[in-house]
Amino acid sequence: MPRIKQLSASVVNKIAAGEVIERPASVVKELLENSIDAGATRVDVRLEAGGRDLIRVTDNGCGIETDDLMLAVSNHATSKISSADDLFEVGTMGFRGEALASIAEVSRTLLRTRTADADTGAELRVNGGAADDIQPAGCPVGTTIEVRDLFFNTPVRQRFLRTPQTEIGHATEAFVRIALANPHVHCRLEHGQREVHDLAPTDDWRVRIAALFGDELAESLIEVESVDPPISLSGFAANPQYSRANNRLQYLFLNGRNIRDRALQHALGEAYRGLLLTGRYPICFLRFDMPANLADVNVHPTKLEVRFQDGGRLYSQLLSTLRSKFLSSDLRAGPGGQGVSPTREEDVAASGASQMVDWAKEQLTQRRFDDSNAPSPTSRPVGEPLVMHRLPQDFKPFPDTGGMQRAPAATQDTNGAHAAEPAPVVNPPLAAAGKVIQLHNRYLVVETDSGMEVIDQHALHERILYEQIRAKVAAGSLETQALLVPEPVDLTSDEAAAALENRELLKQLGVVIEPFGGDTVLVSSYPAMLANLPPGEVLHEVVDRLTASDRLPEATDLLDDLLHTVACKAAVKYGDRLTHEEITALLEHRHLTENHHHCPHGRPTALVFSCDDLDKQFKRI
Ligand code: ADP
Ligand code: MG
Repeated sequence: MPRIKQLSASVVNKIAAGEVIERPASVVKELLENSIDAGATRVDVRLEAGGRDLIRVTDNGCGIETDDLMLAVSNHATSKISSADDLFEVGTMGFRGEALASIAEVSRTLLRTRTADADTGAELRVNGGAADDIQPAGCPVGTTIEVRDLFFNTPVRQRFLRTPQTEIGHATEAFVRIALANPHVHCRLEHGQREVHDLAPTDDWRVRIAALFGDELAESLIEVESVDPPISLSGFAANPQYSRANNRLQYLFLNGRNIRDRALQHALGEAYRGLLLTGRYPICFLRFDMPANLADVNVHPTKLEVRFQDGGRLYSQLLSTLRSKFLSSDLRAGPGGQGVSPTREEDVAASGASQMVDWAKEQLTQRRFDDSNAPSPTSRPVGEPLVMHRLPQDFKPFPDTGGMQRAPAATQDTNGAHAAEPAPVVNPPLAAAGKVIQLHNRYLVVETDSGMEVIDQHALHERILYEQIRAKVAAGSLETQALLVPEPVDLTSDEAAAALENRELLKQLGVVIEPFGGDTVLVSSYPAMLANLPPGEVLHEVVDRLTASDRLPEATDLLDDLLHTVACKAAVKYGDRLTHEEITALLEHRHLTENHHHCPHGRPTALVFSCDDLDKQFKRI
């Protein structure tokens, strides 16, 4: 057995650095938190090469006394707590006194700072943990910390750094979390020559949210507030018509600190139960404020996780606040009274804030074409009539449908009781030959033998495609199309890892990918039925599903999930004008699907109104 040795301060700091400083984003987080703790009202962040070359944070906070400068970069030195008891009363973001020491240990760091009552500032350089002498420096009140060549002396760490795009993604997320928690602080982020964010200070949280995630989402937010002394909850939950394929847009703050908490995330899911389609996650921006001693923030080196004294109480407060709010809100319309189109549920699959904004813009242009307030479908511009190639090759009426038609097993008796309510279809519909019209580019109204049906065109098509693709995947006969020029798609590092790990599964779906260096993957082959959607978009959507939950789903569940995604992507959209042939093809195919009454998400695809129902409602019988 070798003898036991005391580790040198440098090794201890490198070990600590490994826990706190994982990548440029961690430096951004720690430096920004220090600026906030210093009372800054303005913070500028500048990154170069994804933060690997340079991370510079400049604030106008209180600055550091020259005499304290050396202490600031030494381990376990903090101005924020002084006794162990203080640990349970932490009112600042930092308190462990290890961030600056850790950062300075694994980079070339420069601190330049001045307090309000000092005549001049001071400057200190630390290279890989070795500090130079403190020098006087001319600078405004506040602090600038420059971190260059991160991990230059810990090559293993450096090798774990991903591409600049990936690192900038993580760093931006770190910035966004702090900017969200501190709307009163002017926050700016630049990467290379590009200004990523310039967020003016505001008293209105919604304004900050809008600046980060776009006006449309911000306007759809429902304000929530509840006080259960001494705990208060406030913020916004998105209208259920906005949702995401993962839980990354669930921002929770405890006393101004962004936290992750599985129990609270679960409460959110419960609050939205029944309001969201399967596999969709709510969007929210919520803050809890409570006396510091009701939560222990010292359970995790990066303080992302916290332990609550009474987690159950927070859980119920969150759940009941949201539930009662939803009960009293008209969830179908945004606050401006504008109807919100259901396509959003399917189409918000953007994997980042900026994509969210792009998506919102796209929705706005699309809405020009399906504004339900317009007097009639013909008196306004309509979308390009869609052509059959959008449907799979074999999506033609079968010559003989009779033999494949399912027996009319279910009858309407259970629903017959609610004569006045349009009941979801439980009866096989009648021949597609009856009268049919498309309304508002969304619904097909079909005359049936006993009344009429209103069909959701997207939901029905999705169901049909889902069944068809599933059968083909099971038979290994899904048509794929090799791309002439394989398309590189940039992903984040965890997305790229998830995609490559699930290559076989994706291949079954006709999506063939290869690693292409960094976090880029190459799509070389693609399901033929998705031919007119950009591969990058589909891959992002599919990968969103792969990374949606922390626990890796069963392969079969995952495949099913991905089938839904592909079907949804390939289906005609709510808002698409259909040709007569397409309408006919859709209606004829509904008899061939095993379960045409519900779309794969479980929503009804059609509502049936019998003549009896109508007669009763018109008081004829
Ligand atoms: P902690 O934040 O946990 O106290 P750090 O290592 O992050 O530990 O910082 C050490 C100390 O340096 C802080 O307690 C604070 O006094 C000082 N400090 C760091 N950054 C700033 C800043 N931007 N402005 C003023 N003081 C700062
Ligand atoms: Mg700190």
